[in-house]
Amino acid sequence: MITPLVEMDGDEMTRVLWQMIKDELLIPFIDLKTEYYDLGLKNRNETDDQVTVDSANATLKYGVAVKCATITPNAARVEEYNLKKMYKSPNGTIRAILNGTVFRTPIVVKGITPCVKNWKEPITIARHAYGDVYQNVEEKVAKGDKASLVITHADGSKEERVIHDFGEAEGIVQTMHNVNGSIESFAKSCFNYALDQKKDLWFGAKDTISKQYDHTFKDIFQDVFDREYKEKFAEAGIEYFYSLIDDIVARIMKSKGGMIWACKNYDGDVMSDMISSAFGSLAMMTSVLVSPTGVYEYEAAHGTVQRHYYKHLKGEETSTNSVATIFAWTGALRKRGELDNIPELVKFANKLEFATTQTIEEGKMTKDLAMITSMTETVTLNSHDFIVAIRKKLETLI
Ligand code: NAP
Ligand code: MG
Repeated sequence: MITPLVEMDGDEMTRVLWQMIKDELLIPFIDLKTEYYDLGLKNRNETDDQVTVDSANATLKYGVAVKCATITPNAARVEEYNLKKMYKSPNGTIRAILNGTVFRTPIVVKGITPCVKNWKEPITIARHAYGDVYQNVEEKVAKGDKASLVITHADGSKEERVIHDFGEAEGIVQTMHNVNGSIESFAKSCFNYALDQKKDLWFGAKDTISKQYDHTFKDIFQDVFDREYKEKFAEAGIEYFYSLIDDIVARIMKSKGGMIWACKNYDGDVMSDMISSAFGSLAMMTSVLVSPTGVYEYEAAHGTVQRHYYKHLKGEETSTNSVATIFAWTGALRKRGELDNIPELVKFANKLEFATTQTIEEGKMTKDLAMITSMTETVTLNSHDFIVAIRKKLETLI
């Protein structure tokens, strides 16, 4: 390796897996170079969360990071870890600094078949992570209330539009916003990632009903595409496809998969859970944060698997699936290899992924997969033995 990966260590069971992956699957095979940031909650507390900010800035500097799952503190965690304060979600902090979009892709293996029979290739969801209903302003209103939308212009003049005169009815009212710059960054991240992956990009919104709001999303995507990506897409042999969100949903259900599906914030929240459960398991979902300038941060889509960690602490055996965390590493190593022009590193990442999926396809897997597989002859392995089985497979490929 030439440039180090930004390594963001994390919490609980995934922190345990993290070390096993490094010890068994990386360090024996490659000259691993990382700049290490400990985002474990203990160290975030000791550094007043500065370590999270530093790791994100290092990602901007080097371009590629790999992150372990981390605890987002709640009241119970404040007590458990004796925290100075309830720190914000590390992913939120990192996303704000990188200004990125999250792409989630299921890892497809034989024997774990999607519920939707015609889905043969993974569907990647890109979720816009700013605004809409997540930063809404809403109220319950009483009989006789009247709700209006007031826009105060820069010169102080006001424009008011009645939303609804409630009269004899009680009800509810909600407003939301977005900003063009954020939509444009989202569009660019999506177009860049589609080029990176050589996959078609689909986007849906409800522009026929929402003639200003959703139509702006449609227009910005189209403008950015026509201005900066049309030719690049043609060269790469991929397509940008816009349609109404309901038409997109209907087409996705009948497709064979393989596309990147850009979703507005709420659609992405809902659809990513549909996609991950339909493809089998949250433990088989990878996630990458891509900035509009082409900075990448790879992680597993699941959390720290707290329940398994408490068993582990009690000395009980666990069977925690490390596949998504392994793929976070391979994604980051492959990207580093591409950027630094190290074909051996790209090949290694591909081999490690192949060794991982082969191990499962040969019937060796963790408990979560053993419960849902259509294979009949399977061996359920514990967390460590599963990783050792992958290592054995990898050794035959190197
Ligand atoms: P979780 O860690 O994703 O686990 C929820 C359940 O899903 C587990 O109890 C387990 O089910 C199953 N599961 C998830 N990943 C698995 C794996 N790799 N192998 C096997 N089973 C797996 O979610 P959580 O328990 O709600 O959250 C725990 C902590 O993670 C929280 O502190 C949260 O803040 C944090 N979190 C972090 C991230 C991130 O850093 N990206 C994302 C989400 C949550 P069974 O118990 O039935 O076996
Ligand atoms: Mg959701």
